[in-house]
Amino acid sequence: VIQEAATDHEERILVSVRLRPLNDKEISRNDVSDWECINDTTIIYRNNISASERSLYPTAYSFDRVFRSDCSTREVYDEAAKDVALSVVSGINSSIFAYGQTSSGKTYTMSGITECTVADIFNYIDKHKEREFILKFSAIEIYNESVRDLLSPDCTPLRLLDDPERGTVVEKLTDETLRDWNHFAELISFCETQRQIGETSLNDASSRSHQILRLTVESSACEFLGNEKCSTLSASVNFIDLAGSERASQTNSAGTRLKEGCHINRSLLTLGTVIRKLSKGKNGHIPFRDSKLTRILQSSLGGNARTAIICTMSPARSHVEQTRNTLLFASCAK
Ligand code: ADP
Ligand code: MG
Repeated sequence: VIQEAATDHEERILVSVRLRPLNDKEISRNDVSDWECINDTTIIYRNNISASERSLYPTAYSFDRVFRSDCSTREVYDEAAKDVALSVVSGINSSIFAYGQTSSGKTYTMSGITECTVADIFNYIDKHKEREFILKFSAIEIYNESVRDLLSPDCTPLRLLDDPERGTVVEKLTDETLRDWNHFAELISFCETQRQIGETSLNDASSRSHQILRLTVESSACEFLGNEKCSTLSASVNFIDLAGSERASQTNSAGTRLKEGCHINRSLLTLGTVIRKLSKGKNGHIPFRDSKLTRILQSSLGGNARTAIICTMSPARSHVEQTRNTLLFASCAK
């Protein structure tokens, strides 16, 4: 049954778009909302556009699911992430991404989805006493292709190693065994503090860094029929709060780009290429090894792993250019 479920979804990445409400800053500068979800799968641009613009940009975009600005994170979780995330208890790796420009709602969306998943997994464990479960939790940040452990106060960059059995692993990464919900909440709040410490020393770090929270579920059930027979399962679900998508765009002026050195974000660009190739089928060369992010996620993206991408967008007219870039990324991932 598990095998069939995996093959069903093998070729597909679940792609959704979430519109957020206008925020106070946007309202106070008389910005307006130009986007409307006309049903559960289609979002349209409502502002009048010139004929020349119309030939460049679509006015309607369709995805597996689109969420209006008044949808709760619970609804987004239930319909755009839950099945993919919970496949972890059946031994299937998965990744859930939040993609979008800075301030579009990535962290807001991904933190809620992570909480919903952990709560559901604790529930599942309670209901399946016939199996024995171990839950593990790790957290990293990737900034300028440098990997840091968010569960350790030590900021030394960590190395990636190639393990013949497990694939790419982060050396010396803390992997906490989760006791209960409170323990999880403590670890999350520790990660947030660690991320903020980085931010005061590195200007605007959260918009440039990727955060990956990884939950590993190991389970076993043993039967005694003369001799002991055990079945074991192990898989990880990754929650990825990506750097602001403006980091992948080439539209900055030459001056800005010079100042940032070559930090148009390599991991974000490579992820785009990897996702586009995966969405076209899993044959041929996929350049997982070209960035830290894609190396770390390789075993949770290729093979029979499952992937969901939630693209977050601002409704503001002033953000239309970045929003179109986000929708273009989302369209390429389908
Ligand atoms: P990002 O991580 O993409 O930079 P955030 O998640 O930090 O963006 O969101 C920016 C601000 O907008 C935050 O104050 C957040 O609480 C708010 N926000 C984001 N999405 C929503 C939403 N769907 N509904 C209400 N508020 C939101
Ligand atoms: Mg954020």
